[in-house]
Amino acid sequence: MSEKFDVAIIGAGPSGLTAGYFLAKSGLDVVILDKASELGAKNVYGGRIYSHVLKKYFPEYKDEAPIERWVRKEQLYFMTRDSAVKVEFFADKGFLEESFTAYLTKFVKWLGEKAENAGALIANGVRVDSLIIENKKVKGVIAGEDKLIADYVVIAEGANTVLLDSLNLKPKTKPNEVALGVKEVFRLDSEKINERFGVNDDEGVAALLVGYPSLGAIGGGFLYTMKNEVALGVVVRLDEPARKRIKMYDIVEEFRMHPLLKRLLKDSYMIEYSAHFVVERGKLPDRYLVGDGYLVIGAAAGFELNTGLIVRGVDFAIESGKIAADTILEAHSKGGSDRNALSIYLKKLRNSFIYRELEAFRKAPEFLSNERIYTKYPELLNDFFREILTVDGNPRRLYPTLRGIMKKKKISLLGLIRDGLRAVRSI
Ligand SMILES: Cc1cc2nc3c(=O)[nH]c(=O)nc-3n(C[C@H](O)[C@H](O)[C@H](O)COP(=O)(O)OP(=O)(O)OC[C@H]3O[C@@H](n4cnc5c(N)ncnc54)[C@H](O)[C@@H]3O)c2cc1C
Repeated sequence: MSEKFDVAIIGAGPSGLTAGYFLAKSGLDVVILDKASELGAKNVYGGRIYSHVLKKYFPEYKDEAPIERWVRKEQLYFMTRDSAVKVEFFADKGFLEESFTAYLTKFVKWLGEKAENAGALIANGVRVDSLIIENKKVKGVIAGEDKLIADYVVIAEGANTVLLDSLNLKPKTKPNEVALGVKEVFRLDSEKINERFGVNDDEGVAALLVGYPSLGAIGGGFLYTMKNEVALGVVVRLDEPARKRIKMYDIVEEFRMHPLLKRLLKDSYMIEYSAHFVVERGKLPDRYLVGDGYLVIGAAAGFELNTGLIVRGVDFAIESGKIAADTILEAHSKGGSDRNALSIYLKKLRNSFIYRELEAFRKAPEFLSNERIYTKYPELLNDFFREILTVDGNPRRLYPTLRGIMKKKKISLLGLIRDGLRAVRSI
């Protein structure tokens, strides 16, 4: 069977649905295809959405979106096997609407409803196998027996870029440019969450955890409080388990058994387990993102950012979806769909916060590849606090104590300063 649309979007994640919503709203004939049996079933993330893009494009989100809790506490933990140093920012009320915790599954359903109400056709359970290419121009998609012809194809397939790779335009993703995230969700009464995390009913906690959570591998843990659940997970660079000779499920098991987490999760039970890739390569070269008949958006375009303090992707996905929609509408009004007509997409991206931020943090992946961040430094911090807080009749002054631990751990002062400078320059 063969059908014709103005736009075919591959992937009903936040990026594809945003593009679909704005294109359909402007009267284009749009189909959004997703392999998941229902909206949201294949979308995995940690748990927090930054609201700046929603304020811009969906100002009604506060009343409509499936918000779990507004983030009131930001925490950064440096952990060893049985201890932890926590840095916490207890935000003032003015910060409260910066970000919120939410289930991506529900969020995607909400966006999907908006896209459908705007007139987009969403086809779930449809896996796109390949692209139709004629004279080097993308003309549509093939899904099983079905052929779908479209003037514009938007690739929004997420971090696992199977279709984009099939175009052979970009080098294959290297294992050190992508990480594997594993997430578990634990059911816990909201009163217990409020009590244990020190928050009120609609206030939440977002935490990043460094060191033991990844068993010293390049990566880290995350924790987000939902209304009645705690989302906990680990992200580890794909080449790390093999290099460190550890298994991903061991990392996740060990992390969960940390004495601090055991307390936070006491009386809870796991209700969900999922895994997904996340891109960690910094900025992608422009030229792969647009071509004759197609555009690439969201995580497929590499629009994800991990600075070690902040993990983002959904706001980039929404922004790139909107920019792609604007680009297609402009090109359509002029009757063009080749690379030339679509290349305005790159100009718009370069003027957007996506490029500004990816550019500013382009050295973050390299900085975060430093193993000492996950091994020696969390140990140093924990040993330091243990020492200076010990009272046993032996004086423990700050600097001599620090130097003593550094010597024991074989951390040179010069190396520490160098790493500090790298941090300042890259994040
Ligand atoms: C562990 C982890 C934690 C994260 N934490 C956060 C966080 O807290 N906050 C944040 O903002 N971001 C976070 N991210 C990043 C965020 O999840 C992504 O950036 C965002 O989901 C990207 O949206 P997208 O629409 O581009 O892709 P996706 O959400 O990945 O959606 C892609 C869609 O394409 C579909 N698809 C793929 N291939 C095909 C095909 N061949 N045919 C049909 N359909 C197809 C999939 O089923 C899927 O629905 C995290 C990511 C991970 C992995």
